[in-house]
Amino acid sequence: MNEKPLGYCEFHEANVFEEEFAWKGCWNCYHFAYSADFPYVDVYEAANILKKSPSTVRRWLTEGHLHGKLFERGRRQFQLGSPRKWFISKASARLAESRG
Ligand SMILES: [Zn+2]
Repeated sequence: MNEKPLGYCEFHEANVFEEEFAWKGCWNCYHFAYSADFPYVDVYEAANILKKSPSTVRRWLTEGHLHGKLFERGRRQFQLGSPRKWFISKASARLAESRG
């Protein structure tokens, strides 16, 4: 496998790769340590990069100006934390920043 893990999860005691991130619930887990080169930022970090409000970032995501993935907690998952969270690709946020 040449893909790098997104980080290490203490709860799962394993490196977590992109394809496992959603179904294992690590996106919403306090035991997950993001790798230094984690490729996504959340809505607030993206808002910071773009100097826009979080609501603008969410609108851009739904309109497709920004590329991101929306993770949502399933009904049978009982983790704490937010029920849904956007992960915005850092590359996309930087591209949108450079476009102004
Ligand atoms: Zn985990």
